[in-house]
Amino acid sequence: MPDGLGAALEEPIFERAAIIGVGLIGSSLAHVMRRKGLARAVVAYDASADVRTRAREIGLADVVPESLAEAVEGADLVMLCAPVGAMAKIAAEMAPHLKPGAIVSDVGSVKASVAADLGEALPAHVHVVPGHPVAGTEQSGPDAGFATLFRNRWTILTPPEGADAQAVARMTRFWEGAGAHVETMAPAHHDLVLAITSHVPHLIAYNIVGTASDLEDSARAEVIKFSAGGFRDFTRIAASDPVMWRDIFLANKDAVLEMLGRFTEDLTALQRMIRRGDGEGLETLFTRTRAIRRGIIDLGQETAAPDFGRRAKED
Ligand code: NAP
Repeated sequence: MPDGLGAALEEPIFERAAIIGVGLIGSSLAHVMRRKGLARAVVAYDASADVRTRAREIGLADVVPESLAEAVEGADLVMLCAPVGAMAKIAAEMAPHLKPGAIVSDVGSVKASVAADLGEALPAHVHVVPGHPVAGTEQSGPDAGFATLFRNRWTILTPPEGADAQAVARMTRFWEGAGAHVETMAPAHHDLVLAITSHVPHLIAYNIVGTASDLEDSARAEVIKFSAGGFRDFTRIAASDPVMWRDIFLANKDAVLEMLGRFTEDLTALQRMIRRGDGEGLETLFTRTRAIRRGIIDLGQETAAPDFGRRAKED
C-alpha cells in the first residue's frame, strides 16, 4: 500500500545528516530521510550504547559511530533529537567538531530554552534553525519510529532573528520532504501555544491517572475495568516518556504556569455551574468545545472515527 510520502527526491537536500538521539523522533527521521532520499548519508548517534547497538541491528542509518564527535564531523545537517534538558550538554560537547556552514537544528518540544542553549554553546560559523515537529505517539526508543510520523502534521521552525534565509529555506524543504507542513514562529509564541495545546493536556492526563492510581484497591480495579468511559484516552497520554515530559515542564515553566492559571479559573467556574445546577451554562460550554473538535477534523489533523487508543501509525 502506498505510504502517501511520494517519490524520493532526485537530489538529496543534505550530503551527510547526523541524528543525535535515536528515540521515537530520531528513528522516525532516519526512516523518512532514507525513504525520501533527504540526505545522501544518514549518521545516527545516541548516548546509550544499547540504543546504538539496536540502531545497527535494525539498520537505521548508514553509520552509527561510537562518539558524538565522529557523528557530527563533516555533517552539513546536525539534528538534535534528545530530551530538551540534554540539548545544552550535547551542543557544548559537539561545538568544536562542527563543520563551518553546517545547519544545527533540533526537534525539542520547547523552543525558547533550546534556542538560548544552542545560541550560547554553538560557534558563529554554523546556522542554528531550531524546530518542533508537532507529531508523536506515546512510544519511545529506536524501535518506535516510522517514516510516516510527520506526514500531514505541522513542523514549527523558530529561527533566531537575523537567521540565514537560505538555511531556513533548506530546513523548510527538508520537513516538506518528510511530508510535513511548515510554519515559522517566534520561540516564545511557540511555547505559549504549545503550553495549552500539548503541555497542559499532558499535565491533566498525568494528574487524573495519578489520582486514579491513588484510589483504594477496590475502586482502582473498577477504574481499569470500566476505563472506556474517557479514562482510557488519558492513560494513553499519561504513558508518554517520563524524562521527555519532565524536561518539557521544567523548560517551559512560565508558559505552562500561565496557562494552568487560566485553566484553574475556568475549572472553578465549571465547579460553580455544577454546584448551582446551571445546566444552560454547562451546555453552552460543551457546545462550544464540540465545535473546536469539528474544526480540528476539518483541518485534516484528526479523523472522526471513534478509534480510542489508536496509534498515529495506523491512520
Ligand atoms: P525518546 O524516544 O525517549 O528518545 C530520546 C533518545 O535520546 C534516547 O535514546 C536517549 O537515550 C537519547 N539521549 C538522551 N540524552 C542524550 C545525549 N546527551 N546524547 C545523545 N542521545 C541522548 O524521545 P523522543 O520521543 O524521540 O523525543 C526526543 C525529542 O523530541 C525531545 O526533545 C522531545 O521533546 C521531542 N519531541 C517528542 C515528541 C513525542 O511525541 N515523543 C514529539 C515532538 C517532539 P537514553 O534513553 O539512554 O536516555
